Amino acid sequence: MEENIKKVKIAINGGIGFGAKLNAKQLLTISKYIGEDEEIELTTFQQLYIEVPENQKVEIVQEFESVGLACYPVGNYVKSLRTCNFCKGEEQEGMPIAKEINRRIAGRPVPFTLRPAYTGCPVGCGEPLINDIGVMKMKNGYDLYIGGKAKGGDAKAGELFMEQLEPEQLYAIIEKVINIYAEEGKKREPFSKFCNRYGVDNLKHSIMGAEGILNGIY
Ligand code: SF4
Repeated sequence: MEENIKKVKIAINGGIGFGAKLNAKQLLTISKYIGEDEEIELTTFQQLYIEVPENQKVEIVQEFESVGLACYPVGNYVKSLRTCNFCKGEEQEGMPIAKEINRRIAGRPVPFTLRPAYTGCPVGCGEPLINDIGVMKMKNGYDLYIGGKAKGGDAKAGELFMEQLEPEQLYAIIEKVINIYAEEGKKREPFSKFCNRYGVDNLKHSIMGAEGILNGIY
């Protein structure tokens, strides 16, 4: 590739499935866009960063998606949902719910990179408590944690925000939390800091007062 062509970084992964896997066809497709001396970055949130020519980005994303890769923006956006491996089965551990959460929130602009995580049972392989927004399937309901922090000397577990939610309630509340963060968060303010400043109880009250969708769960 010519060196004077501007490149842009995109994030890719194999989408939500039984483990964070890439198949041979996907790897071959990715390799078409990596020069011999170039590198690809593996992030801690189950994404690969690859730089592609800006003037071909749309076509390349389409090609990636045609082989089942999921593509996301890089920067201050909601990251793709980190998940566990769903070892006990797709339906039992709520993979369709995880896919729908990801569809609704991944790639949304926010004040600072936001990492959501999902885990299909209380074993917690997806580490939802140390991510910004964490979902844990508990029996037939979904518990929602917010404000976890994995990095730094002040790392901490997230707070249980609401529990035993139905899927539609879960989607609505997560989206509302992200809306409030997007509107009220300061530039480059991490979500856990925002939760401390804004107040978790205040966040609950803001959500409750916003729409009638949460009747009976708080
Ligand atoms: S969190 Fe539960 S369902 Fe998910 S991989 Fe771990 S043990 Fe399996």
